[in-house]
Amino acid sequence: MIIKHNVQLQPHNSFRTKALAKIFCEPQSAEELSEIVNAFPNERKLILGKGFNLFFTKDFDGIVIKPAMHGIRILRENDRFVEIEAAAAEDWDHFVKYCVDNGYAGIENLSLIPGSVGACPVQNIGAYGTEAMDAIVGVKAVDIPTGGCVAFSREECGFGYRDSIFKRTALYAITSVVFRLEKSFQYREKYIDLHRELEGIPSPTLAQVRDAVIRIRNRKLPDYNLLPNAGSFFKNPVLTEEEKDRLLSELPDAPVYTTNEGQFKTSAAFLIDRAGYKGKRRGMAGVYAGHSLIIVNYGTENGREIVDFMQEVQHEVRQRFGIMLAPEVRIY
Ligand SMILES: Cc1cc2nc3c(=O)[nH]c(=O)nc-3n(C[C@H](O)[C@H](O)[C@H](O)COP(=O)(O)OP(=O)(O)OC[C@H]3O[C@@H](n4cnc5c(N)ncnc54)[C@H](O)[C@@H]3O)c2cc1C
Repeated sequence: MIIKHNVQLQPHNSFRTKALAKIFCEPQSAEELSEIVNAFPNERKLILGKGFNLFFTKDFDGIVIKPAMHGIRILRENDRFVEIEAAAAEDWDHFVKYCVDNGYAGIENLSLIPGSVGACPVQNIGAYGTEAMDAIVGVKAVDIPTGGCVAFSREECGFGYRDSIFKRTALYAITSVVFRLEKSFQYREKYIDLHRELEGIPSPTLAQVRDAVIRIRNRKLPDYNLLPNAGSFFKNPVLTEEEKDRLLSELPDAPVYTTNEGQFKTSAAFLIDRAGYKGKRRGMAGVYAGHSLIIVNYGTENGREIVDFMQEVQHEVRQRFGIMLAPEVRIY
């Protein structure tokens, strides 16, 4: 395995901010990954996927490890289900396409989310009423402090809304993910926008659902090649009863819904919109005019400018509505 030094991370993050990694490597197997964490016990470590959910504000004084293991294999199947293991460096949307092309149902609503398979459990990616945790049955990883191989069942992954044990602890380098998918598909309404897009199709097929998701996403989201961004910048806030009451007294039309855990949630995009930030630009950073949850980079290579703008949005929303928005994007 080649160990590189002072590697520019700008091509490795979709915000395209500049930073150097002191050490950089791309292990091609779990064994190589183990070797590398054992070889540098005292260095800070960052596991990097395709960089669609993170950006850099300064050089990384440690080792950036970008898993490079590939492969998709069927572990077991019967008439109803198939269990498939996909390696960490597989492109997420290629994997979704592979499943749809083979008639395996369960992750079609997650079409076109940019990133790697290895990152999908980290923030339990979700879209159009589906989350990765709905299909994941296991995750294989290298334990970063010891270099040992570990396996997690779905329950052990501690999944939550854009959350998991992998995100909370940053102690594991995921090497592969095991999914359980259904061999038959019956479309069920999960999300109103998607349902509308499928209007007129009496019994949509898997491919039609995937195409509909792709059409909506292409219409709604900025092209990160033209306008660098990391998708939804903030998480939808979970509110205490007091925060919910204050919000509704300020904004009676705020969308508030109760989660399965009996908490209250509202829309970060709605709050940003009402704070007057939709389409607003400050220097080289701004909120995308077509979607208030997305911060876009108009041309800076300095991640601090993105953070300054993020803090301005957070401050304004907090001042007006008493709610602190938490970033979904990881900032290094
Ligand atoms: C235009 C756009 C649209 C998006 N839409 C959505 C959406 O609809 N839903 C959604 O949930 N997300 C969305 N995202 C966010 C992003 O696509 C996902 O978070 C994706 O999973 C990131 O994958 P990645 O490989 O780029 O991860 P990275 O950005 O490289 O890493 C993200 C985090 O995961 C960790 N990580 C990465 N790989 C591993 C690994 N193998 N082992 C352990 N930790 C690892 C990193 O350390 C980091 O903390 C969007 C992003 C963009 C740019």
